[in-house]
Amino acid sequence: MADTYLKFVNAQPFTRVAKAAGLPRPVPLRRYMQGEPIVPGPVLVLGRSSGTQAVSSTLLQWDLDVRRHMRPKEKLGAAVVILDDLTHPAQLSDIFLELGGLLRELLPGGRVVTISRPPAHGTPPETAAAQRAVEGMLRSLAKELRGGATANGILLDAGVDVTGHSVSAALEFLLSGKSAYVDGQFITVGHSEGVGPTDSATPLSGRTAVVTGAARGIGAEIVQVLRRDGAQIIAVDVPAAGEHLARVANDVGGTALQVDVTAPDAAERILHHAATRYGGLDIMVHNAGITRDRLLANMDAARWNSVMAVNLESQLRINVQLLGSPDFSADGSIVCLASTSGIAGNRGQTNYAASKAGVIGMVRATAEALAGSGRTINAVAPGFIETDMTAKMPFATREVARRLSSLQQGGLPLDVAEVVSFLASPGAAGISGQALRVCGQNLVGA
Ligand code: NAD
Repeated sequence: MADTYLKFVNAQPFTRVAKAAGLPRPVPLRRYMQGEPIVPGPVLVLGRSSGTQAVSSTLLQWDLDVRRHMRPKEKLGAAVVILDDLTHPAQLSDIFLELGGLLRELLPGGRVVTISRPPAHGTPPETAAAQRAVEGMLRSLAKELRGGATANGILLDAGVDVTGHSVSAALEFLLSGKSAYVDGQFITVGHSEGVGPTDSATPLSGRTAVVTGAARGIGAEIVQVLRRDGAQIIAVDVPAAGEHLARVANDVGGTALQVDVTAPDAAERILHHAATRYGGLDIMVHNAGITRDRLLANMDAARWNSVMAVNLESQLRINVQLLGSPDFSADGSIVCLASTSGIAGNRGQTNYAASKAGVIGMVRATAEALAGSGRTINAVAPGFIETDMTAKMPFATREVARRLSSLQQGGLPLDVAEVVSFLASPGAAGISGQALRVCGQNLVGA
């Protein structure tokens, strides 16, 4: 459903009125457009570690206008802050105050990205304090930025260097318009394998992807973006959605497969279809999901069981068969739709939140089992996304849900699809076991 307030508040004289009245002033977000620069202006790289020069060199290779110092009266597309060598909180003051002094020059849709390390087991207290301080600073900064600008971080696990392939891929993603609705989040890079960002506009070419729940909403958009990025598509949905499903699949030259994901033979049918039509499967997107809301005091078995069956048990069952099958690539990736409800909880959604929290648990445990195998699994947790589901919310609840985020608006299915495509890309080979929120830093569950 269109966000009428967003349009209204961006037209004069309403912009001035909203400013004077202290009302939220969401702006249209900077989203990815093929052929446009990754960032809207020069990129400043701040940092004292040796990694600072290495990151500057990487950015230069992408033809960006890179600076170590600001020029007078210059506007800034992004600031990248390298903090991979912190050992004490006293090291933070200079660099964060320098960053603060530049923020007024950040262009609309600008980006701040930190690259730092999370405290590892056995880290000295003062080092761990400095490392965690970065997270608190960044999450607060994301709440202060306006004009559609975002702040996100990359965390490097032990042994991962700032020049790691997936570090570069995550940096490119966070700087670009593809991460428009990701705000106040951290992406952890667990190892340095894989390939970095390629110049290719189709990083998924040669890959075959299954998207479940593809007939409409977020699933239909994931189909479009994975195809745009080069993948062959198998679109899956229930037989009742067959007509829409066929349209979505035809649109991208893919195939439609009518399968209820809760069926015991769902994985077998998906794998058989992928093997016979495309010679195997590389990307599995578990997007199918349902809600059957009731307060727990009024919950019945049908509501509880159906939500768990579609949202969680189907994913568990399909993954077991997928990961045991030679038809699923040795470097295959699985992306599972979770929800911020599964992180923060939501009144009336005990069943839904249990299923989505379950997805996050499943993803973490499966990633541990897959470590070193070349395969990855990640979760994407959307917040308020403009779909048929959220269009049905009562007006006041919908307005509050939209505005109570740092970006002061709901996300689009496209925003979720961009994150799914990034996590399924070869560049994200070093990223596994994550639950990445796509929520505009919604205050609910922050
Ligand atoms: P939607 O209801 O618009 O679409 C869901 C699709 O899944 C439908 O086409 C439906 O037919 C299909 N589906 C349902 N049960 C199925 C089954 N048993 N087998 C195969 N297909 C089945 O939902 P959406 O808003 O596009 O959400 C997509 C995913 O994103 C879901 O997992 C949802 O929980 C999650 N999500 C959505 C939001 C949001 O704001 N819309 C927020 C957080 C998470």
